[in-house]
Amino acid sequence: MSNRAPFGIIPGSYYAFCDLCAARNFGHTMLVNYRNQFVCTDCYEDRHPQDMLMAVKENRLPPIIRRKQDTVLAASDINVYDPTTKNIYGEPL
Ligand SMILES: [Zn+2]
Repeated sequence: MSNRAPFGIIPGSYYAFCDLCAARNFGHTMLVNYRNQFVCTDCYEDRHPQDMLMAVKENRLPPIIRRKQDTVLAASDINVYDPTTKNIYGEPL
């Protein structure tokens, strides 16, 4: 960056001040950045590409989902506590 402000006259151009460093430059050398600021070529920078990143929405569901299956119990699967024939652990007396 040159510390010397330009001087002289260029037909059709004008003086402008940088919005960031306040340096005086010719208007035809100034640029508009992504924040719509009128800046000199030394202060100009492109927007960082990662400013545009969008977070990926997380899918919290498991990849395979199964319906809850109905359980059919046979009569022998049902353990009925009978204190006269078995103790509380199901062992015969
Ligand atoms: Zn500047």
